[in-house]
Amino acid sequence: MVEEYPVQLLKMARRKTRKITVGSVEIGGGAPIAVQSMTKTDTKNLEATLEQIASLARSGCELVRVAVPDAEAADAIGKIKKRAPIPVIADIHFSHDLALRAIESGVDCVRINPGNIGGRAKLKRIIEAAKSSGIAMRIGINSGSVEKDILKKFGKPHAGALFASAKRHVRYFESQEFFNFKVSLKASDVTTTVQANRLFSAAFDYPLHVGVTEAGTIFSGTVKSSAGMGILLYEGIGDTMRVSLTAPPEEEVRVGYEILKSLGLRRRGPEIISCPTCGRVEVDIEKIIEDVEKCITHIDQYVKVAVMGCVVNGPGEAAEADVGVACGKGIGLIFARGEIMKRVREEEIVRELVTWVERITRERKREGV
Ligand code: SF4
Repeated sequence: MVEEYPVQLLKMARRKTRKITVGSVEIGGGAPIAVQSMTKTDTKNLEATLEQIASLARSGCELVRVAVPDAEAADAIGKIKKRAPIPVIADIHFSHDLALRAIESGVDCVRINPGNIGGRAKLKRIIEAAKSSGIAMRIGINSGSVEKDILKKFGKPHAGALFASAKRHVRYFESQEFFNFKVSLKASDVTTTVQANRLFSAAFDYPLHVGVTEAGTIFSGTVKSSAGMGILLYEGIGDTMRVSLTAPPEEEVRVGYEILKSLGLRRRGPEIISCPTCGRVEVDIEKIIEDVEKCITHIDQYVKVAVMGCVVNGPGEAAEADVGVACGKGIGLIFARGEIMKRVREEEIVRELVTWVERITRERKREGV
């Protein structure tokens, strides 16, 4: 007999938002959640910045943000935009002149914090320029730069303060009849970030860029980002995302996709299911997993690979994946598409798994799956 349960508890529906476009990438309105990152090079160093953008694009990054701290960087960003393989967003603080120059140079989007741009008159000029160029903007609200009068009201950085600040700026953009924007509300702690985004999402249908700001190193930042973005994305909140890590930007992209994959929201590259190992294991499973992972990082198509240490859960998991192995004493049973293909010796497991992964992804590419 099937147990009865409240089905609404099983629902993960995305919130409906308006659609905007940044270059060729759609954000909101049901479009796939776009993964973005930020270059960590000196923007003035054209070649280094373009090289990093190319590498980011290869790793699946769909939008790239570039810091524009001064006039030279503003000049460089036009050249970067012309040669970049993905849409370029100019990241600007404190100077409306830099924002205007970036817009003039043809960037696909400008990210500003309206609270630090020097007043309404200057903000108005940026909005006018974005409007006439037809580009989108991001209204970025960070806990560190909420306006003083709002902070005074709340007494301390608070989700309500982030929301109040965002609301104020959104209302101003609307009063200028500019609606082509997305919004981010970020704090460096998970709870404030989640609460602020929830408040915004309940009140507005503008697309949201989600992320936990200054999340940390690759380990702590990944945990923090997964916790924060995991909650929001599970609740259907978020149209584009950036994982902020003190690490190479390609890692941010990798973690971003892993979060989306784990929630079944995007599928890109291999998803590896691996056993945590225990006293039953009779092969060097850690080494096998490490080698398999290394050998298939170049694959950008989705494929589920299970690497299991024994016959307890091994055959079940391996049969459910696209490719899998269930190991025994010095051997591995190789599975592909749910069927046992072969029994191989321990030293042949990695090669055999990789061959099957490549074969299946090649076939899928041919079939356009
Ligand atoms: Fe242990 Fe087998 Fe589970 Fe791996 S799959 S953790 S070896 S029981």
